[in-house]
Amino acid sequence: MKKLMSEYFTSLDSGKKKIAWCTSVGPAELLRSFGFEVFFPENHGALLGATRTAMDFIPEAIKCGYSGHICSYTTADIGSYLKKQSPLQKHYGMEGVPKPDIIAYNTNQCREVEDWFTFYADEFNCPIVGIQPPRYLNEVTQDEVDLVVKQMKKMIPICEKVSGRKFNLEKFKKTVKLSKEATLLWQKVLKTSTADNAPISFFDGTIHMGPIVVLRGTQRAKDYYTILLAELEENVKNNIGFIPKAKTRIFWEGMPIWGRLRMMSDLFADNESSVVASTYCSSWIFDKFDENDPWNSTARAYTEIFINRSDKAKEKMLAEWFKEYKIDGIVFHDTKTCFNNSNAKFGMPQRLQKITGVPFLTIEGDLCDLRFFSEGQSITKVETFLEQLEDIKV
Ligand code: SF4
Repeated sequence: MKKLMSEYFTSLDSGKKKIAWCTSVGPAELLRSFGFEVFFPENHGALLGATRTAMDFIPEAIKCGYSGHICSYTTADIGSYLKKQSPLQKHYGMEGVPKPDIIAYNTNQCREVEDWFTFYADEFNCPIVGIQPPRYLNEVTQDEVDLVVKQMKKMIPICEKVSGRKFNLEKFKKTVKLSKEATLLWQKVLKTSTADNAPISFFDGTIHMGPIVVLRGTQRAKDYYTILLAELEENVKNNIGFIPKAKTRIFWEGMPIWGRLRMMSDLFADNESSVVASTYCSSWIFDKFDENDPWNSTARAYTEIFINRSDKAKEKMLAEWFKEYKIDGIVFHDTKTCFNNSNAKFGMPQRLQKITGVPFLTIEGDLCDLRFFSEGQSITKVETFLEQLEDIKV
């Protein structure tokens, strides 16, 4: 993983290729087909959270007019840019984030990305292209797919101008194929944890998902997940779980708390509980990708994602995951600065419990801003919840 990510960041810094910035569930395949190296500011936001440097940068963005209650990826990232400091300097020897030649976003996840990326388009005086699909859908019909395809095709002339290359359908198909192969491997990786002794936890998944976020559409991502899957399948065969024996199996809903990943992972493991599945890691499964129908299939896959759906559709998906992963309880992370990835605000936990019988716990926290996370309170809540689940199971 270290080698792969290091090579990825070095390739961004080589100055040999043009750089496209893209949202994490944005049109990466189309951008790669034009030969762009793709940089994902959200990945940088996660890095700021995981290295706990976000707290140094958020105040800079607040001074600039961004509220401390909006997406802390956005505020941490903008603050890091304003302070000209980034963990990329220390960890990968880069000067900072690579300068964009073009910026692309998809509001399938939130409108925040449009504001965030527009800030940079202004700063770098750089072309920006956006996809704005319909949101909160029960079903995604061909009408919505057609609309998104039209928006994606509008990107072509701008990409051609910036890259100096004509759009090449064969290259697009090839990139979609590579992306599909990697994403299906990633799906298999996550599904290994349907085993009674789950070999990979949600917390490990948040680290292993790096390549499917930043390298999808490349052979490197495919190779990485081929190796990882083989190792995990071997563990399943030998009944080796990531903890020796789990008393309870948990579903994690919402964003990771990047600055407390290890602490949360240890908390569940110490209480003999496996966090075996999550909406977050599953967000990079695009099983609808089809290289023989690249426009429709990518438009559909990126519009159908969990975060872009109605509560009704989300509840149906969660209920299916509960069955598949034999879930005993669900933890909702009520992420203070990301409304889009927080599903505990409008009665979903209660409705879901009624439908599935699976008990829930809500903990308050944040992806990057640790002012919104109380460690002591969360430990008490999680330990009490796990004890209750064990009692129910007896
Ligand atoms: S989905 Fe949430 S965390 Fe991600 S960019 Fe949007 S507001 Fe930020």
